[in-house]
Amino acid sequence: MIPYGRQNITEADIDALVQTLRSDWLTQGPAIDRFENAMAAYCGARHAVAVCNATAALHIACLAAGLGPGDVLWTSPNTFVASANCALYCGASVDFVDIDPATLNMDVGLLEEKLRAAAKAGRLPKVVVPVHFGGLPCDMEKIGALAREYGFLVIEDASHAVGSRYQGKATGACAHSDMTVFSFHPVKIITTGEGGMILTNRADLQQRLARLRSHGITRDPSAMEGPSEGPWYYQQVELGFNYRITDLQAALGESQLKRLDAFTARRNALADRYASLLGGLPVSAQARRTGAYSSYHLYVIRIDSARAKKSKREVFEAMREGGVGVNLHYIPVHTQPHYRRLGFRAGDFPRSEEYYREAMSLPLYFDLSDAEQDKVVKTLARALGD
Ligand SMILES: *Cc1c(COP(=O)(O)O)cnc(C)c1O
Repeated sequence: MIPYGRQNITEADIDALVQTLRSDWLTQGPAIDRFENAMAAYCGARHAVAVCNATAALHIACLAAGLGPGDVLWTSPNTFVASANCALYCGASVDFVDIDPATLNMDVGLLEEKLRAAAKAGRLPKVVVPVHFGGLPCDMEKIGALAREYGFLVIEDASHAVGSRYQGKATGACAHSDMTVFSFHPVKIITTGEGGMILTNRADLQQRLARLRSHGITRDPSAMEGPSEGPWYYQQVELGFNYRITDLQAALGESQLKRLDAFTARRNALADRYASLLGGLPVSAQARRTGAYSSYHLYVIRIDSARAKKSKREVFEAMREGGVGVNLHYIPVHTQPHYRRLGFRAGDFPRSEEYYREAMSLPLYFDLSDAEQDKVVKTLARALGD
């Protein structure tokens, strides 16, 4: 089976891990600082806080943003559930803004309309989480302008988008946002096994995030209530978590980061190849945008049901039977049973639902060969025919 995504691990990655195993630090050591500093430098952001996964990163990013009971977070329905769950963890509620059917990202026109209505109703969101779907950066300049106008914070869910660029800057630079979250799950662009990171330019957010990552504990006397009682002294000044990444993971991440540009270049080359090979088939692909360089975490197609002879389900099953591990990104979050129980209904965000009915993700990863890609396309052509 050709999988839809797969990590690339070299001898250099293995050496970095083994070296860390032989060192004094398996966790809370220098490899974490090195990985954070390397990623901050790559992105052009002032601060980076590495954590155990992107779900944890989204959780403490929301807490650092001040999200709590009575507040609302808005995100895209076309995302992994974690982009919305982070609000529920904080006791806040969630709402969604439907997608632009071409880019498959949150539609900024709909965002603006919904903000105008929310301002009238006195129910503006405290946080908006744009998701760079498939690695394609959202229209961040407009979202940033709306954030200033309506006074919300922006947390970019860039789980798909490590190594992407927007207006010449790396995603993670936080030029139009308060924080940016990355995931290092093995199917994503670079991996640490499990892992995540928050980038920010704000020192106050960095301090809060670092504290929330480790139980809400500080050893910094200036952050304590009352004087320090000695060199052993620490204080828990708020309720935090153990969301730490290990030095083993960070060493792997630092090693992987050196190949990030090679990873995205190959993914873009494969995406270009898909675009030309799929030319004659009754399918369409995610739009590209000028000024945005996608990291191409995903290559998603929509099956044109008017022109195709088969249903999406038939095509999907034929692909799996033909040895091609296609996948689906995403079932609209608001249609999940947990979200239905919160009051959402099918029909609430029709563009995401229509996209879901037609969508399929084709294999795309650094080591996918041209020959394997040809097989994917051949299998797809057969699956779409009669
Ligand atoms: C993968 C993913 C996450 C969660 O990442 P983990 O590191 O697995 O916790 C969050 N949001 C999106 C959009 C993702 O694709």
